[in-house]
Amino acid sequence: MPEAFLLTLGCPKNEADSDAFAGCLTRAGWNITRELGDTDLLLINTCAFIKPAVDESLEAMQQALEWKNERSGRILILAGCLPGRYPDDGSGGLEDFDLITGPGDTSRLEEFLSIQSASGPEPAEGTISRYLKISEGCSNNCAYCTIPLIRGARKDRSPEDILIDAEYLAEQGAAEIGIVGQDTASWKCDRGSISWMISQLACRYPDIWFRLYYVHPANYPDDFLGVIAEHENVMPYIDMPVQHVSDRLLKRMGRPYTGDSIRRLFDEFENFKKMLSVRTTFIVGYPGETEEDFKDLYEFISQYRCIRTIAAFPYWPEEGTREFSRNSVEKIPDEGSVQSRLARIGDASEEHNIIWADRLKGEIMDILADTPLLGHSRLDAPAVDGACCFDRSVEPGRIVRCRITGGEGYDLTVEVLD
Ligand code: SF4
Repeated sequence: MPEAFLLTLGCPKNEADSDAFAGCLTRAGWNITRELGDTDLLLINTCAFIKPAVDESLEAMQQALEWKNERSGRILILAGCLPGRYPDDGSGGLEDFDLITGPGDTSRLEEFLSIQSASGPEPAEGTISRYLKISEGCSNNCAYCTIPLIRGARKDRSPEDILIDAEYLAEQGAAEIGIVGQDTASWKCDRGSISWMISQLACRYPDIWFRLYYVHPANYPDDFLGVIAEHENVMPYIDMPVQHVSDRLLKRMGRPYTGDSIRRLFDEFENFKKMLSVRTTFIVGYPGETEEDFKDLYEFISQYRCIRTIAAFPYWPEEGTREFSRNSVEKIPDEGSVQSRLARIGDASEEHNIIWADRLKGEIMDILADTPLLGHSRLDAPAVDGACCFDRSVEPGRIVRCRITGGEGYDLTVEVLD
């Protein structure tokens, strides 16, 4: 059987797309491998939302071209956000790619492979945590963001299609399913909101952990904490990109909420009856950000101990966005200030790690084993948050009772009890 390898760059949404691409390849008779090695087909699923991601994708493409030229007959496919953002204009440089297809666009791959359309993502062998895409695109049009340019306006998948894919993932042995989309909180159908959809999944698959990603603060469903309280298999985890707490900057970003409304929401998270963790992102050095704005942000981070994982990014002026067309490059804080602010967020994040490690030390928790020696807790998403390091080998895919013995950065050390 010919062998194919998929290289996935970027976020869990791309992981979900790669599973769909892998499903097409499997149906066409390809065996998906976990290493590039001497495979016959390489599909690169690229990311392009900011310049560093574009640069990483370009570098991967360059290496892929070298790989292709090492032996004749190799097939090279370019997919994802890079061709979505910069479609081939025919000016050259991409002719060595056998196929170019946009983000999550399986129809072109199916045509290329001469197979019929069918639902069904396919994981690389042994994948324990999977992703289930409930929508494509985004209609929020935040002033700095390229996603709506790349993936278009938000289109929700139907509950029926979502349940079909969930069934595939369950049959393939998924132990955890991450619910992804650019704006998951806005998902709805005539029967209910995202809270309804997650409750359906949680009831149908009581042994699978469900985790919701990318909750836009303005679209946060009021009843979501109730869903977490009711279903033990919905993770007590909020992934909410706050970006800033300055009302002036939020308005400029096109994010329709205020610092006060975010604080009210975080008060709820902080006072929730179950231990709950928040993952969030911040943009530092947005055009017009003053030292006072940053101090407000820093105080916010310090105030809320429910924040467990922080990702802070410098603002990147991206062509095609509303912020870019405001031509406000001169109002971007200078590089030194941006780096100093990022470093201070790094310090605050480190303080949170120490507080969380103290808080968790001695706690008995369920940990899902991702590999024999590493797993993740209900408070941490696989791959992007901290890991749990076992004191002895565990069968991957098993949920084991463990005692937390310490912490190092985002990671925890744990003693396996059963
Ligand atoms: S909600 Fe997220 S994906 Fe959508 S436009 Fe805003 S930043 Fe981009």
